[in-house]
Amino acid sequence: MKTIYFLSASMLVLLACISLSACAQTGSTAPATMPVSPEVSTDQSVVHKTDAEWKKQLSNEQYYVLREKGTEAPYSGKLLLNKEKGIYKCAACGNELFSDDMKFDSHCGWPSFDREIAGGKIKTVEDNSHGMQRTEIMCARCGGHLGHLFNDGPTETGMRYCVNSLSLEFVNQKDLPATAGKAVIPATDTITLGGGCFWCVEAVYEMLDGVKSVESGFSGGTTVKPSYADVCTGSTGHAEVVQLVYDPAVTSLDEILKVFFTVHDPTTLNRQGADVGTQYRSVIFYRNDAQRNTAKSIIDALNKDDVYGKPVVTQLDAFKAFYKAEDYHQDYYNQNKSEPYCRMVIQPKIEKFEKLFKDRLKKM
Ligand code: FE
Repeated sequence: MKTIYFLSASMLVLLACISLSACAQTGSTAPATMPVSPEVSTDQSVVHKTDAEWKKQLSNEQYYVLREKGTEAPYSGKLLLNKEKGIYKCAACGNELFSDDMKFDSHCGWPSFDREIAGGKIKTVEDNSHGMQRTEIMCARCGGHLGHLFNDGPTETGMRYCVNSLSLEFVNQKDLPATAGKAVIPATDTITLGGGCFWCVEAVYEMLDGVKSVESGFSGGTTVKPSYADVCTGSTGHAEVVQLVYDPAVTSLDEILKVFFTVHDPTTLNRQGADVGTQYRSVIFYRNDAQRNTAKSIIDALNKDDVYGKPVVTQLDAFKAFYKAEDYHQDYYNQNKSEPYCRMVIQPKIEKFEKLFKDRLKKM
């Protein structure tokens, strides 16, 4: 499967020194996760209320949509045509979900957004109700139903968050506190990385302090919800990737990418050792200019100093969608430590990571 790449002492010095610096309508199928904008962070403490408490707080119509997963009639919502500048919050708990620059006119009858405010504020759930296969979107803080997510959006993200007006509260920019919508350190950020077999990369990042979750999956292709078997054919265009949610106050994209460039070989095109094919390509799926610029700076520095003796071929691609791989691929190393691939391929990478980043390991 994969050859193991060991950085020389000079490489390590270099790496250490790099200054880094709603909807009832059917639509195209639903992605498992969604693009985000890194702009706002609010308290993400979970809100638990009884049905009686929600009924007391919400109008009957809001309760129907938010708590009973109802759908308002198309073209009926008060926010459908809203073009004012401001923030769209969860109507139940005030969680900041979208901003005006994310809204577009989808002509579908419900307010539509092409991305969400960063920080894991929205969670997705597979929804097979009404004879359709859709992705439901819910407020991650209170569990309120928002609408559905489709991958037929017309903007760069390719996404359409189709949201009930009744699930949203709009706060005009002039009424917002100075910090709202401004750049602050988000509670969490997300990056999607392809470095060959996702079992290997996942196992390493699960150990890095500040990484809150790691999921193995697929990104960068055209097939919606591909299976592992689909991706293995090499015809879907997807790469095996890991999607990391991390706490920028504990780790950083710089550090995450230093690990990335330590535990895989970024110089072999569409190949990691014995794993050959575009699904094993080295690729960074960035969500915003800051991520792209950070990644590009690192790659430029690696090339400038000829760290690998060969050019880095890692691709920088705009993130569009992530599809989580089957359950048996998740936490694969820890669940299958006795398997030969784990012992012979993954274990050495982990040992190398533990040695180089020994001060950065999670406290077990
Ligand atoms: Fe909420």
